[in-house]
Amino acid sequence: MNESNAVPAAETVQETIERLGAVVPDYPKPGIVFRDLTPVFADGPALRAIVDSFVRTFEGTFDYVAGIEARGFLLAAAAAYASDRGVITVRKPGKLPRRVYSESYGMEYGRNTLEVHVDDVPAGSRVLILDDVLATGGTLGAAARLIQKVGGEIAGFGVVLELGDLGGRQALKDYDVTSLVTY
Ligand code: AMP
Repeated sequence: MNESNAVPAAETVQETIERLGAVVPDYPKPGIVFRDLTPVFADGPALRAIVDSFVRTFEGTFDYVAGIEARGFLLAAAAAYASDRGVITVRKPGKLPRRVYSESYGMEYGRNTLEVHVDDVPAGSRVLILDDVLATGGTLGAAARLIQKVGGEIAGFGVVLELGDLGGRQALKDYDVTSLVTY
């Protein structure tokens, strides 16, 4: 890291995310403003601050951390490691080799399906679900339905960025949602 890349002293995690996050207009479709967090994840102190923040916020409330393919995996694996918990993978269709439940849903720029193995979550386990961005809430809502279908309980959701105008928080109003930055 050279001096111009150094994290300014006393910068908050919110300021770090805002400083490093990239904004990509018209991706993946015209009219969508894509929030690209890859530069945030590539920054060691930023990644650590984000993961620590989720672990602190939900400390003592979860038995597993679920990540949504693919960006959610980065956060889930790190948070699970930091809290000595295991990871549940919520995956795109056709990726999991054994019996799955599937949920199809609408999200900001299309329709998708997510899957989870029917036996990956011990009954009654409390699952924290992490992803990079909350937009309409379709993705996290589908992930929650899947975890519940396989016998888990939702400890809460953690996202790095929330797009406040798209109604995701309202769609997930029955759950505890933590976002580090809201636009
Ligand atoms: P949604 O289901 O509408 O809340 O969309 C959230 C999911 O889609 C997350 O997995 C995000 O990675 C992705 N996503 C949706 N909208 C955006 C956006 N504007 N910028 C970056 N990622 C997005």
